[in-house]
Amino acid sequence: MSLKPPKYVDTVRRFIYWQYAQLIAKAAGFENNWGFVVSRYKKLESGEMNWSSSIRDYEKELEKGRVCVYCGATSGLSTDHIIPISRAGVDPRIVALLNSADNCVCACKRCNSSKGDRDIFEWYGTERLDDIPQLALSKFLKLSYRVHEMQGTLDLRDPNMDGALDIYDLGVVITHLISKMSDKAQKGKEPPPTPKPKE
Ligand SMILES: [Zn+2]
Repeated sequence: MSLKPPKYVDTVRRFIYWQYAQLIAKAAGFENNWGFVVSRYKKLESGEMNWSSSIRDYEKELEKGRVCVYCGATSGLSTDHIIPISRAGVDPRIVALLNSADNCVCACKRCNSSKGDRDIFEWYGTERLDDIPQLALSKFLKLSYRVHEMQGTLDLRDPNMDGALDIYDLGVVITHLISKMSDKAQKGKEPPPTPKPKE
């Protein structure tokens, strides 16, 4: 998942397709093969390739029943929300989506608490992108596409407004982001000055 996207990959929708094209390449045994990734990307973008069904069989193959999707542990299992529920914001459609099975994977309690309040990209970080289990990544990409589709942000260039389009833009729920930013603004604000009594 480490190929840097070309310049024309400049929106959330395109960025998700780019990540997905790399996943498809990996599933087909052409990991990090630039030509293969670009050709799959173009098929995804043109609609020639159905992106959500294209990897369903691969996902099935990866499903191993009751094991931690992150570390493979078979005991102490719990349900991990790929995008944390605490990030659902106030849009009832997003709240429902994040509470649905589409947002759930099986994870051991240790991984679950280590991940905490982060999505998988934030948890693994840019240095360890290649270590993200394919099943978790595939589910995350599908889910984040639906979140952005619902909130109308698929064609934004930088949803988290940090100056770059990257993996940290994918798990952004706008209503949560706004409330987080206004919390910060409130905290940083000086109280209004007390008016001086008139002489
Ligand atoms: Zn685990």
